[in-house]
Amino acid sequence: MDVTRILQIQLPERGSTDKLIWKDSTNGQYTVKGGYKILRGPGLRREEAGPSSSRDPPLWKKNWAVDVLPSCKEFIWRACRNVLPVYANLKKRGINLDPMCPCCGEEEETTTHAILTCNRTCRLWFGSHLNIHLPASMIDNFKGWLEQILMHPSAEIMADVFNLAWTMWKRRNTWVFEGQMWDAEQTMSKAAKICTYKLNVDAALKPDGMGLGAIIRNDKGQTMAAATKKARAQEDPTMAQALAVKWALEWARQIGFFQISLETDSLILVQQWRRSSLGDSYLHDVIRLCKNLSLGFFLFSVSHVKRSGNKVADFLANLACRSFDFCWIEEDPPGASTQIHDDVSLAVSSALS
Ligand SMILES: [Zn+2]
Repeated sequence: MDVTRILQIQLPERGSTDKLIWKDSTNGQYTVKGGYKILRGPGLRREEAGPSSSRDPPLWKKNWAVDVLPSCKEFIWRACRNVLPVYANLKKRGINLDPMCPCCGEEEETTTHAILTCNRTCRLWFGSHLNIHLPASMIDNFKGWLEQILMHPSAEIMADVFNLAWTMWKRRNTWVFEGQMWDAEQTMSKAAKICTYKLNVDAALKPDGMGLGAIIRNDKGQTMAAATKKARAQEDPTMAQALAVKWALEWARQIGFFQISLETDSLILVQQWRRSSLGDSYLHDVIRLCKNLSLGFFLFSVSHVKRSGNKVADFLANLACRSFDFCWIEEDPPGASTQIHDDVSLAVSSALS
């Protein structure tokens, strides 16, 4: 073994005298700090200590180019370097603990197990829009798996994979440190919040008809698209909201938005949507149609928002009652700037509070 390692030492091309050097420092000198880093674990060695590592240039070039938050990329980098504090790594670093997975208790918690192959995790990968099958027998390390994923031609899919992996890690931490396990819907919704477009929908009921309004905004609150539509009158407000959602989902798909976090101010609709089984009523039929439509999105979640956070959609629904059907792409609908500003400042203040 030692013979093999000695033979692997790269000899200098030009002659020089033999001397002892500390290979984990830049100047060849040993320092206590450098020694401590080595003792703390293989992942913290100097050659692995930053995104500037030149060991895997193609992988890192691709990693840093993926369109996700910098902290998400940093997480992926740490996972590839195997420096996440999963139990197996903590045990290797000399911490006296049980290395079994805190979520399933069936296998040692390695990075690959925590993010991908744990039976509490792999079913979410498969159930997500990414539909990724993760047989534990086929995947032996996260980095190798990611290298395969990074060959995927779609930048959007790549970003979704990064975000979902990051969310799986946050989910594990919420379980370990707070004792709460996010279910599939919560997990997908949290992954979706990282990269989806917000779609606000509303309906305005008038005696002679119904106005529908929808607006799609990015995470900076900028308008990506907005639309109005006049429809037949409805008596039941929840049914009106359900029909508005159905129309908005069809519209969003039509104009190419496939990562949607839908918001409606109808609490009843959201409650009905989340029922485990739907009945035979007309309302439930429409909700069933909406749910089927939602399956066509890469990422989808639905949530309730207060009326004060749904002002633009409300404005557009009322506008629809007295005007033609209309669609704006990457521009604010005329007259809606006050409502857009109000919605954005509401989002900013709730993010700060
Ligand atoms: Zn597990």
